[in-house]
Amino acid sequence: MDKFQALKHYFGYDSFREGQEILIDSILSGRDALGIMPTGSGKSLCFQIPALMMEGITLVISPLISLMKDQVTTLNQAGIHAAYLNSSLTASQYYKALAYAREGRYPIIYVAPERLVTDEFLDFALNTNISMVAVDEAHCVSQWGQDFRPSYLKIVDFIDKLPKRPVISAFTATATKEVREDVIDILMLREPAVVSTGYDRPNLYLGVQSPKDKYATLKNYVECHPDQCGIIYCLTRKLVEEVCDRLNQEGFSATRYHAGLSDEERRKNQDDFIYDRSQIMVATNAFGMGIDKSNVRFVIHYNMPKNLESYYQEVGRCSRDGEPGECILLYSGQDVVTNQMFIDNNQDNQELDSLTRQMVMERDRERLKKMTFYSFTNECLRDYILRYFGEYGENYCGNCSNCLSQFETVDVTDIAKELVGCVKASRQRYGTAVIIDTVHGANTAKIRNYRMNENPHYGSLAKVPAYKLRQVMNHLFLNDWLAITNDEYTIVKLTERSKAVLEDSESVIMKMAKEQEPVEKVKSGKKIKKSSASALELTEGEAALFDSLRALRMEIAKEEKVPPYIVFSDKTLVHMSVMKPKTKEEMLSVSGVGEFKFEKYGERFLTIFQS
Ligand code: ADP
Ligand code: MG
Repeated sequence: MDKFQALKHYFGYDSFREGQEILIDSILSGRDALGIMPTGSGKSLCFQIPALMMEGITLVISPLISLMKDQVTTLNQAGIHAAYLNSSLTASQYYKALAYAREGRYPIIYVAPERLVTDEFLDFALNTNISMVAVDEAHCVSQWGQDFRPSYLKIVDFIDKLPKRPVISAFTATATKEVREDVIDILMLREPAVVSTGYDRPNLYLGVQSPKDKYATLKNYVECHPDQCGIIYCLTRKLVEEVCDRLNQEGFSATRYHAGLSDEERRKNQDDFIYDRSQIMVATNAFGMGIDKSNVRFVIHYNMPKNLESYYQEVGRCSRDGEPGECILLYSGQDVVTNQMFIDNNQDNQELDSLTRQMVMERDRERLKKMTFYSFTNECLRDYILRYFGEYGENYCGNCSNCLSQFETVDVTDIAKELVGCVKASRQRYGTAVIIDTVHGANTAKIRNYRMNENPHYGSLAKVPAYKLRQVMNHLFLNDWLAITNDEYTIVKLTERSKAVLEDSESVIMKMAKEQEPVEKVKSGKKIKKSSASALELTEGEAALFDSLRALRMEIAKEEKVPPYIVFSDKTLVHMSVMKPKTKEEMLSVSGVGEFKFEKYGERFLTIFQS
């Protein structure tokens, strides 16, 4: 079976997503691999498919029991033998699983990092053929990451003990440079194929509001989305309880999660949410790590979180299946105060010396500031986040609350003409900053040294704010009106198209944030707008089919005792409602329907289209 057949047969998908093939090919050729891809982009397949194709066993290291359980259930549902070894098993279950593993029953075994260097496990591992060690959530090896796990450092000790070094692959959604370097160094990856597919999640609508009455806004939202699952994040336990109680009193189906609840209640509430028994989860940031539920359609932050890392991780749990989802932050000034207090009273870093502790605190304050700016910016929210994580995009995404309400189409031909003219007049010798400073009329030593103050365009756009000049410049680069060299020094160059601007034969039109109005006026008391990204876009007939399919899925999920999204994802059901398959062949062409699942439930789903 080749990788395409495996993709179709087991997982029911027709094509690979960005990055998957490169990583799979690298692993299959025996080369280490590092995949840095956003949440929901399909990292698991990158190690699961090679695991099925290689001789020997793949060990998957994963930090959380819930993650292992979810993935093993998903694999079993697809007809693949897989097991996990972690502390949720009783001793006898553990030994039984190990015995099966010795017999070679499982091509894929999930194991907690703590287990790796125990005697029993080593005894097994040293006497079997391990072809790959796949490290999931690999940022856990890094102290720079958000979820550092000291036990992840044991992975290398373990690999060193093996008679033959297996291929090592690592996967994470955390894209910062520090984390990437740590993963490569600490796991000692050997010339890995590195794939980094960027941070953007275009299917997520991003919104910010500062309502006077947060609860009323929230209620309005959940009323408008009666059939959708969502998470509501609050900063404090007390708020979680208040919001959850109120929602329940008003007849919504909500449950709650925070660190102050008993283990048992937490487990139960989490399961209720995952198995679609509760529609809404109200939680602190304690909830979410390891939640692979793919049909979470909205994530509302009742309070602003402490930094953008947390925010993006939390909204990352929305719509993992790629369908549209909505992420809305309800900001109030009090949120800044509360977060500030958390930073001042942080007890997590007691073991650090006071100087380091001060530094950590400074860093946290800085991050909080950037988060606060996010809540106020008039610019594209997506662009703001991507820039924070060191990526560059268009300054207009068309799917955030600012782009949809705060942007206007502007003719910037005059500005463009000055910028291009300045590049030409200075004989294409300088970088972006010098060009912008020149037209802006900056009086700096650098400008004087380069004698740019004598350039005919010097100060010609002194009244236009520098950030705007930068946006126009970006727009010119993105549309080939100007180019930038990729050498050691980045220099702005003219292009074929530059002439058109200089000669007035093309106008330059772009989307730009409207001038900032006083904050109160812009943001207060606005009702939540339904964005284009809401509701799965189905016709009435298809929506009715979708509901029947969902009911059948729920029935099967109960029989199988697995979460509904593991039977089939929402995306698969949407696809089915649109395709209306009548035969086995047609059903198998639906994305997400593989052979094994068809054998199990295919006929039952077909009956819905035959009636
Ligand atoms: P990650 O670990 O990167 O957060 P997952 O591996 O959990 O993401 O995958 C997210 C979802 O995407 C899953 O429902 C998975 O089945 C689906 N998926 C993965 N690869 C593909 C593909 N090539 N085509 C369609 N769906 C895919
Ligand atoms: Mg994953």
